[in-house]
Amino acid sequence: MGSGRTRLGSMDNIVVLGAGYAGMTAAVGIAGRGQRVTLVNNGARFTERLRLHQVAAGQQLPKLSIPELLDGTGVEFVDGWVGGIDLAARTVRVGERVIGYDRLVYALGGVPDTAGVPGVEEYAFTLDQAEAVQVTDTVVCGTGLTGVETAAELAEAGHRVVLVGRAEPGAELNAKARAYLQRVLGELGVEVRRGEVVKVLRDEVVLDSGETISTGQVIWAGGVRGSELARAAGLEVDELDRVVTDAALRSVSHPEVYAVGDAAAVRQEFGVLHGTCQSGMPTGVHAATSIVRELRGKAPKRFRFGYLHAPVSLGRRHAVVQFTRPDGTAKRAWLSGRVAVWYKETVSSAPWPSFRRMVKVPASGTVAWRRGGRYTR
Ligand SMILES: Cc1cc2nc3c(=O)[nH]c(=O)nc-3n(C[C@H](O)[C@H](O)[C@H](O)COP(=O)(O)OP(=O)(O)OC[C@H]3O[C@@H](n4cnc5c(N)ncnc54)[C@H](O)[C@@H]3O)c2cc1C
Repeated sequence: MGSGRTRLGSMDNIVVLGAGYAGMTAAVGIAGRGQRVTLVNNGARFTERLRLHQVAAGQQLPKLSIPELLDGTGVEFVDGWVGGIDLAARTVRVGERVIGYDRLVYALGGVPDTAGVPGVEEYAFTLDQAEAVQVTDTVVCGTGLTGVETAAELAEAGHRVVLVGRAEPGAELNAKARAYLQRVLGELGVEVRRGEVVKVLRDEVVLDSGETISTGQVIWAGGVRGSELARAAGLEVDELDRVVTDAALRSVSHPEVYAVGDAAAVRQEFGVLHGTCQSGMPTGVHAATSIVRELRGKAPKRFRFGYLHAPVSLGRRHAVVQFTRPDGTAKRAWLSGRVAVWYKETVSSAPWPSFRRMVKVPASGTVAWRRGGRYTR
């Protein structure tokens, strides 16, 4: 901690749960303003969730050490699994340890939504396993952008890949960008099938049409939901177990708890944000600045966010970047080719150095991440 920084207020116990994109942003944002904070995460290595499809394809990522980054910042890092939250006592349980809080930032991210389809939990591989897929004959279930990125990455690595889902791959993109994405998938050898997966077996997926697809490995990329922890604790959650927040990102049922990133149901004028790093980091910045405002006796401000882009990798040699309106719908502008590969890589690499910058210059996070694309009006 720099000696010139002043300690703010008497609200001593600030605890951030989860050191992903949103939780790290919140913790360094708070610490950078001179306030002590405890950060809890299961593991000392930062998980670059944006790159889990690369891990599935067998690529080695750099080992990013959270304690090393936080050394000397005033953040106490606790490596452990959060087992429960006692909202009445204002404590969290981490293994044998009980940690008290005055303000809690709930940033535990999401878990793959595996419950709805029989067989997924038993047989499917999920990207959260953060390991390489060993079998080279794979069906990727889910035609959202995560499924598309995973299928492309595996195909480029030599897997035989079938990509299956209800929607057309790239449905979120404008017609030209979508056509480009589908052309690259074809060139990589990805076979696309349309349909709803209704059952997963060890070596087969069953579609609503009755069609079956044989495979060596099923990969489930069928969406994300919040962990069960928030509901179990008694926080108000939505149908996807995300903590329902007020306009300032505080839990509507327990305003001493801020919820950020994928773990939060954050409503904007155009609807509830879908989990992205793009929106998660601004929510972390907002929670940090709001807590600091509270310490100064001020009310937290309203959170406002607008999307800017949807960068999609298609293996290491191709990418497409769709620029968007603040509500996430596609604009006419888009990028492909080498400039898109460079753009996507730049965006994926940005968070870790930006945490470092925020440790030294807290306002840098506010400038870069506070508002995401731009305000919605
Ligand atoms: C393959 C893939 C590609 C993606 N591409 C993009 C993209 O291009 N652009 C984009 O904006 N978004 C992208 N996303 C989405 C983005 O990664 C998420 O929205 C983002 O990671 C959310 O950040 P977060 O901090 O809320 O959660 P996370 O990054 O998931 O962090 C949560 C942290 O909490 C920890 N944790 C969870 N439970 C516990 C517990 N009980 N105890 C202790 N620790 C716990 C986890 O280990 C993790 O470290 C992609 C996601 C995937 C899977």
